[in-house]
Amino acid sequence: MAKFNMSQEKVKMPEQDPNVRNKNFEEVAQGYTLEMAQEEAMRCVQCKNKPCMDGCPVSVKIPEFIHLITEGDIEAAYQKISETNNLPAICGRVCPQENQCEGVCTRGKKGEPVAIGRLERFVADYHNNLKYKKPVEVYANKEKVAVVGAGPSGLTAAADLAKLGYKVTLFDAFHTAGGVLMYGIPEFRLPKNLVNTELKNVIGLGVKLRTNVIVGRTLSLDDLKEKGYEAIYISTGAGLPSFLGIPGENYNGVYSANEFLTRMNLMKAYKFPEYDTPVHVGKKVCVVGGGNVAMDAARSAKRLGADVTVVYRRSFEEMPARAEESHHAIEEGINFMNLHNPVEIMGENGWVKAVKVEKMVLGEPDASGRRRPLPTGEYEEVPFESVIISIGQSPNPLIKHTNPDIETESWGGIIIDDTTMTTKDGVFAGGDAVSGAATVILAMGAGKKAAANIDKYIRNKND
Ligand SMILES: Cc1cc2nc3c(=O)[nH]c(=O)nc-3n(C[C@H](O)[C@H](O)[C@H](O)COP(=O)(O)OP(=O)(O)OC[C@H]3O[C@@H](n4cnc5c(N)ncnc54)[C@H](O)[C@@H]3O)c2cc1C
Repeated sequence: MAKFNMSQEKVKMPEQDPNVRNKNFEEVAQGYTLEMAQEEAMRCVQCKNKPCMDGCPVSVKIPEFIHLITEGDIEAAYQKISETNNLPAICGRVCPQENQCEGVCTRGKKGEPVAIGRLERFVADYHNNLKYKKPVEVYANKEKVAVVGAGPSGLTAAADLAKLGYKVTLFDAFHTAGGVLMYGIPEFRLPKNLVNTELKNVIGLGVKLRTNVIVGRTLSLDDLKEKGYEAIYISTGAGLPSFLGIPGENYNGVYSANEFLTRMNLMKAYKFPEYDTPVHVGKKVCVVGGGNVAMDAARSAKRLGADVTVVYRRSFEEMPARAEESHHAIEEGINFMNLHNPVEIMGENGWVKAVKVEKMVLGEPDASGRRRPLPTGEYEEVPFESVIISIGQSPNPLIKHTNPDIETESWGGIIIDDTTMTTKDGVFAGGDAVSGAATVILAMGAGKKAAANIDKYIRNKND
């Protein structure tokens, strides 16, 4: 075998045909074989300065794990990744690598970067499919720490604290852990059996999981302190959906993307009546918004057999969705009505009948750097039977309302200091609850940072 593979293109990953996959919920991307993974791994030139590692919020030892793939020692590659990342099968699938590790890969200067995400996914799947796994050692002989919110941020903090020997309890409001990984990201991008496997890996480190506990209702932060938790990490995400504030949003058939995706993913509505929760979309669905969440909602509705149109007020160029997501949506037959803004949802007998949209044009760039959409006064009524609103989420105000001593930004983000502590002593926070809606890997990076700070805080306190 040549020392390096100097091909300028990534080894392609097989995908389900768009006209087949838009009718099922199985995973779109099918993963590499060992041969494909090794061919791709040979594209890594093992640069000394390792820019990819700096681009990774959890500092995965990327060149080292890729080198182990070329040597055929896939389990060692897994162990290398899991030194810093407890959710590699998830990250390999959903991280926006183009803005992180792959965005700064040396090979990307001339051609495509090394397919780091695909390789991470390959290694994690290999490990997760092993029949025998070496048992992990559980220490849990130090102080008690509570983690509130079991999304990627909470899971990462919990895993790191457990590895440091703390007795960690992870609380979540839902009946299952995983956060957006479980209730938001669709099965066809992130299979839930795989999320469950990585959840079990975290629990296997000695973390206790308590579901159906809403902190702020079932238990307060002060209750947790009284129960002997020396520190608390809040990672409750940004699950409060925004609405358009236009007439007609209360008609039957109008969903927030959050509700629609929770019904589809967590409650398996696409398998109704085998599962209890139904979801009505009708024949024509309007999805409002142009981000990743909108693409997930549109692609999910398409799989229920509907004709789906994304209505977005700017042009394709300004669309915040990852290029891969909008590309997949187009391939699967989603329609796009760009430069249109809904101004009214129209109904009949209590149900959605149509959406009145205003045509927009682009003006000068706004604070986000994207060209501002301007109204034209030209309207159109488009028939739809359901509307899924996907224009953003913010942190749920429950923690703030039940703890006035925790300061928040005007938009709801929890304020933290350099040590990731909130304005309440011993209470730390991170992930989407602090940053607003962001990404899995940034939430994980915040969880890692908080775990290290909680360790310092407890050691200083008890010295
Ligand atoms: C549909 C969708 C698709 C996305 N796709 C991608 C993607 O492809 N790639 C990517 O990188 N990012 C994606 N994101 C963003 C990403 O999922 C989030 O940035 C990430 O999940 C944030 O992690 P977190 O742990 O901070 O919060 P979350 O994942 O939101 O988890 C928060 C957890 O806290 C629990 N909780 C909330 N309040 C309480 C309370 N009071 N008491 C107890 N528990 C509570 C919730 O039940 C939840 O389990 C997507 C987001 C959505 C909505």
